[in-house]
Amino acid sequence: MRRGFKTEAKHLALELRSEIGLSAYVPFDPYAFAVKYGIRVIHLSDLHGPARDYFFRSDGSALSGALIPYGTGVIILENDAQPLTRRRTTMCHELAHVVLEHTFGVSLSDERKCGLGGEQESEADWLSGEILIPADGAFRLAWANATDEQAADTYQVSKAVARWRMNQSGARKIVQRTCAKRAKQYI
Ligand SMILES: [Zn+2]
Repeated sequence: MRRGFKTEAKHLALELRSEIGLSAYVPFDPYAFAVKYGIRVIHLSDLHGPARDYFFRSDGSALSGALIPYGTGVIILENDAQPLTRRRTTMCHELAHVVLEHTFGVSLSDERKCGLGGEQESEADWLSGEILIPADGAFRLAWANATDEQAADTYQVSKAVARWRMNQSGARKIVQRTCAKRAKQYI
């Protein structure tokens, strides 16, 4: 990931949230965001035929989502057989590609991997994480000593995504370090 991207993503995620009237402390609504950006979302369950039947599964290896160029815009194809928490992560990943204006052919994604490769994937993953649980939100949770489950509930994401954000955002580490420093002053 290029230098400075994480800081940009932190601010960008807050801007994107505010565009649909959301603060850093509530769950993100990728569907409202798609409407605002004029991105059509098609559910796999709306399609017909053997290909749909093959992909319309809830297991881990199934297709989660796809970004399809359409005219001058894009369509997101979403596997609505999967749990809502996973769908929200997939949606945010695809939306991040759109917002970051990544160049692509057709991107088919299973969890956290789609065909765009390398740098674009890491950027989309990181920005989608900031959108789902902004750093400010992760810090507030870390100060409250929230568990992964509580973070997952607060932001309607899976426990794995909550754990990833609570740790990778640095929130827990910084809060623990600050508490340790304060404790030392009183010894
Ligand atoms: Zn991707």
